[in-house]
Amino acid sequence: MVGDPVLRQRADEVTDIDARLVRLVDDMFITMYDAPGVGLAAPQVGVQKRFFIYDLDHGDGQQVLINPVVEESDGEWEFTEGCLSIPGLHFDIVRPRRIHVTGVDLEGREVSLEADDYLARVIQHELDHLDGVLMLERLDDDQRKAARRAVRQLQLAGSEPEPTPRGRFPFGRL
Ligand code: ZN
Repeated sequence: MVGDPVLRQRADEVTDIDARLVRLVDDMFITMYDAPGVGLAAPQVGVQKRFFIYDLDHGDGQQVLINPVVEESDGEWEFTEGCLSIPGLHFDIVRPRRIHVTGVDLEGREVSLEADDYLARVIQHELDHLDGVLMLERLDDDQRKAARRAVRQLQLAGSEPEPTPRGRFPFGRL
């Protein structure tokens, strides 16, 4: 949830890829598909470690990126983002269109990935979670005002909005 302090902290590097981490990743995939979501970062499940999972292919494209670093980025692209930790809100956010990201996978192999468009967006959103940055920080002034109002209303109501219907947004939630 938005008010959860874990979501506002910089997560620590992963130093050991052990059985515990592998189990956690398995659990996170279950949580993500259940949501449903396309990406999920460890801090979103209360774990302060620098890794996230994603799957752009509905169960057939499982990926884990550990200790990711964006080496380069360029271009601009506006896309509608939603976040599993901020249910019910979606915003058009401008971010770089292309990135070069490095990290390691669950087997400890080095990963070097050129990503653009949708994949680049998923990775940048999840990487923000590792730095304690929510998409609310990526909004312009008008969007931010609207977001604050919406979040306040949610908190006053003491309930969560209806979940986004599956498939309504091409991007899903992250
Ligand atoms: Zn998110």
